[in-house]
Amino acid sequence: MASPRPLASLADRIEELLAPGGPLPVVAAGDPVLRSGTSRYEGQLEPALLARFVDALRVTMHAAPGVGLAAPQVGVGLRIAVIEDPAPVPEEVRLARGRVPQPFRVLVNPSYEPAGSARAAFFEGCLSVPGYQAVVARHAEVRLTGEDEHGRPLDEVFGGWPARIVQHETDHLDGLLYLDRAEPRSLCANQTLLERWTQPTAQEAAKALGFELP
Ligand code: ZN
Repeated sequence: MASPRPLASLADRIEELLAPGGPLPVVAAGDPVLRSGTSRYEGQLEPALLARFVDALRVTMHAAPGVGLAAPQVGVGLRIAVIEDPAPVPEEVRLARGRVPQPFRVLVNPSYEPAGSARAAFFEGCLSVPGYQAVVARHAEVRLTGEDEHGRPLDEVFGGWPARIVQHETDHLDGLLYLDRAEPRSLCANQTLLERWTQPTAQEAAKALGFELP
């Protein structure tokens, strides 16, 4: 029987996580940290440590590469996420999906509500579910509230692909994965997606694989 060890504080655990430098390991589906929800960020980290943690999230997101990363994906149960999308896509894809560039942002304690009743359904993937993508019908526009990394209030309406990104990342903070909201019959290996379903919309895939679009 192991002798009891005192629990390390959250700050100590994050110091340990950041110590090697460079991108952090990304936690994969099956780890309970992705299903446990998160604690609101209420100053648990000193400002300098918060800044280093946010920077590590950004470095990890770039290295993946991805367009968003939530703290639970690096094993930290805090309500913090980062987003950034240079949107390097062809014009027809940009138009169909609203995939416009999204500058780097830190989302602290975010939550969203629909802005209007429109839905948009496209393939999306997740760094914590490597190798696959699936179609998710999401709110076309959402109002996101919360704070930034300096505690300044955030209250903004997101549309297009950025709306999808903020819903996906905020869902992570609530212990949800995109698969929970996906059309099961749309599940696609990355290689198959590349070979067959790179059209700007998911209509052909829906017809061939047998799932509904909104
Ligand atoms: Zn994800």
